Amino acid sequence: MFASILIANRGEISRRIMRTARKLGLRTVAVYSDADAEAAFVREADETVWIGPAPAAESYLKGDRIIEAALDTGAECIHPGYGFLSENADFAEAVGKAGLAWVGPPPSAIRAMGLKDAAKALMEKNGLPVTPGYHGEDQSAKTLKAAAKKIGYPVLIKAIAGGGGRGMRRVAAAEDFDAALASAQREALSNFGDDRVLVEKFIESPRHIEVQIFGDSHDNYVHFFERDCSLQRRRQKVIEEAPAPGMSLAVRKAMTDAALMAAKAVGYRNAGTVEFIVDGSGVLRPDGFWFMEMNARLQVEHPVTELITGLDLVELQLKVANGGKLPAQSDIKLKGHAVEARLCAEDPARGFLPSSGRLDVFDLSTFFDDMPGGVTLRLDSAVEEGDVVPADYDSMIAKAIAHATTRDSALDALGQALRGAEIWPVATNVAMLANLLDHPDFREGVATTNLVEVDLKELAQPDDAEFADALILGAAGLRYLKRNATADPWDMADGFRINAAPRSTYLFDTGGETRSVKLEAADGVERAYIFGDSFEIDVEAALIANGVILSGVVDGAEVLGVVRQLSDGPVLFSRGRALALRSPEFAHALEGLVAGDDIRAPMPGKILEVKATPGQDVKKGEPLVVMEAMKMEHTLLAPRDGRISEVAVVAGTQTAEGAALVRLEQLPE
Ligand code: ADP
Ligand code: ADP
Ligand code: MG
Repeated sequence: MFASILIANRGEISRRIMRTARKLGLRTVAVYSDADAEAAFVREADETVWIGPAPAAESYLKGDRIIEAALDTGAECIHPGYGFLSENADFAEAVGKAGLAWVGPPPSAIRAMGLKDAAKALMEKNGLPVTPGYHGEDQSAKTLKAAAKKIGYPVLIKAIAGGGGRGMRRVAAAEDFDAALASAQREALSNFGDDRVLVEKFIESPRHIEVQIFGDSHDNYVHFFERDCSLQRRRQKVIEEAPAPGMSLAVRKAMTDAALMAAKAVGYRNAGTVEFIVDGSGVLRPDGFWFMEMNARLQVEHPVTELITGLDLVELQLKVANGGKLPAQSDIKLKGHAVEARLCAEDPARGFLPSSGRLDVFDLSTFFDDMPGGVTLRLDSAVEEGDVVPADYDSMIAKAIAHATTRDSALDALGQALRGAEIWPVATNVAMLANLLDHPDFREGVATTNLVEVDLKELAQPDDAEFADALILGAAGLRYLKRNATADPWDMADGFRINAAPRSTYLFDTGGETRSVKLEAADGVERAYIFGDSFEIDVEAALIANGVILSGVVDGAEVLGVVRQLSDGPVLFSRGRALALRSPEFAHALEGLVAGDDIRAPMPGKILEVKATPGQDVKKGEPLVVMEAMKMEHTLLAPRDGRISEVAVVAGTQTAEGAALVRLEQLPE
């Protein structure tokens, strides 16, 4: 085995690889950018090397600098993780030329599979079913559009160099083709430095099922069963599981055979994944799946495979890179069911807008609670409490994983652990993930890749009952804290009447709207009043270090939450959500109603396109500015009808968070 390793990556995967490296006794070297100088993976490495400023192009994508760092620190091998340089054949080759071992596939295999068009052509030649479509050289808009027509709408435009769901657009009809093409090409160019695309048939009711394969240098090829990754947002996975629900032995055989055939066709070695798009309109069929692409690297969702096989895939990667042998296929056994949820710093209710900044609270201690027999929880996190989520990279900050003997118990355990998460003030998708795990279609095992988009509203936002519960818990928490500590400004209690029935009213600003919650006890029964509704409540409280834990029932339904006193005010954590218990600022609320609204950049980023022009009348919801933040495109919409009075930005420039981009005034009467 090697004695040392350099990890050419960051975040959770850097920590994940280091964990195995340490277990095997390897000295670990991390490389980092300015944005990650204080990151957990840097703190934990035995040695660290600074490689440049925050932008990936000036640090994590600087292959020569990374190789230099490996030579300087005497690292024997380089593990690229996923993303960044992991599928860069030139880099893999340069690593070998520098006399270092590459923990990944041979450059020739990366090249063969690296571009989606060439890979599809090669697989077709080898007899694999591929998605019907155009993957030719001619990239003129005319040819691409003609191809789309021939394939038949809906079609999918895909960047041939794409990954992570980027540079991909579904087009429903011919009139939308040109705009979709331009936007796919732009995203492809900025993410992958290559704007070439292919066009393929959009498979309706699609499921994404992939096969984990491995090859070694002794001509052994094995598979580690399949993963179902059909729950996606923006064509990027959010929840993955193994095995795939509804998988039969016949379909598994057909898929794993096809995956191994693909691996052999390119002389693959080390870990790889063959992805298939699957017809999910009925039961799975041996002729109902098509090759999409092969990912020549370790996959984000590899932990679910580790948990069902009991094997450490990073350990196997190192072993294979060092000339070792893979286990025999017959020794790779499938046990139980595993599920992973990608925890992202983004707000699903605001179009998955990424969020960044310091994590004042990052408490996922529920993942370390004692579990009932047969249940395992695992947390692969990039961050610890107090760490910063930089705005420069992908928004995924942790992976939450559960394994159990049955699928339902794995989903239950993961959902429960996620609902206990406390994260603040960075927005996350935790509540959406927990809701997804309970979605009836997902539970039934019939979810397709459309599910998140179709049910986004219900998944992302609390319903009225959940919102009322949160307000009640918030009010109850503040009251308890007040009784047990100093005065608080939220209590507008008629508290002077010492002997009267205890009654207090709390006003909260929830996103610009004022809500009032009145708590009142009479005849031994406590009630809460929110607007016209009244709820019978029975909530108990217990003080903790910086807050109070609340549990009980509201109208017969169980509620659970924590109110913490944070530097920016009290915050309620409940069901995976965080709600700031702010008092309303009337002046501010009123100001929002009058003319002169500024549309501000919600994140630091780059302005891609300015659609608004001064003097233009716009309708609510009309696109004004397209910007890129954390590697994703975001369209800023008009918050209401109005007239553009000023445009303060031009395309191509960088913008700071909160900068005014466009000013909207009232339409003249
Ligand atoms: P997987 O199937 O393993 O999820 P994806 O294609 O979704 O693979 O991408 C792998 C991961 O790498 C994702 O988390 C994605 O956001 C990240 N990623 C993709 N491209 C880049 C990039 N250019 N820089 C950094 N991370 C990237
Ligand atoms: P990436 O490299 O970004 O991972 P993929 O080709 O693997 O690109 O596709 C990503 C996702 O897009 C898939 O998981 C699937 O949900 C969706 N997708 C890809 N191709 C098709 C298709 N032909 N029809 C329907 N959905 C597709
Ligand atoms: Mg893919």
